[in-house]
Parts: sequence; structure tokens; C-alpha cells
Amino acid sequence: MDVSFNRHQDTLKSLARPRARFTNFALHLLENSLDYAQQRQVEVSSTTEGVITTLQDKHYVVDLVLQTCECGHYQVNCIPY
Ligand SMILES: [Zn+2]
Repeated sequence: MDVSFNRHQDTLKSLARPRARFTNFALHLLENSLDYAQQRQVEVSSTTEGVITTLQDKHYVVDLVLQTCECGHYQVNCIPY
């Protein structure tokens, strides 16, 4: 829960900065990340692994060392959610 809250706060801070600092692609990723953060819960299993649970009660294992998530988003955009 703390990870999700901290990610949400970081995203809000980033979005509050002047938009000229971001490419449209990066801004789109940040906005999507905020949407996902509001729909998911993060449970940290260790310093390198966690489980993400969606509102539909689906679970995805995240490995921060391998930079993978079972949902596949992390491998695509390097943002674990
Ligand atoms: Zn994922």
C-alpha cells in the first residue's frame, strides 16, 4: 500500500511540473501510470519482488531485478504496474 501511495504522490508531483519538460509519450505513460495506480494494490514480498492486485482480483508478480511483471507492462515501458 505504501508503494502504491508513494508512486501516486510521485506521479502527481511530476504531472504538476511544467508539461514542456515531458514528451507526449512520457506524459502519456505518466497519466496511464496514475490511472493504473488508482486501480491496483501493491504488496511488497521482498526488496526485489512484489505482487500487484487489480480491482478484478487478478494477481501479477513483479521482479525488480529481472524488470518483469506477469502482466507484461513492465517489460514494455519499464514502469512496474
Ligand atoms: Zn504488471
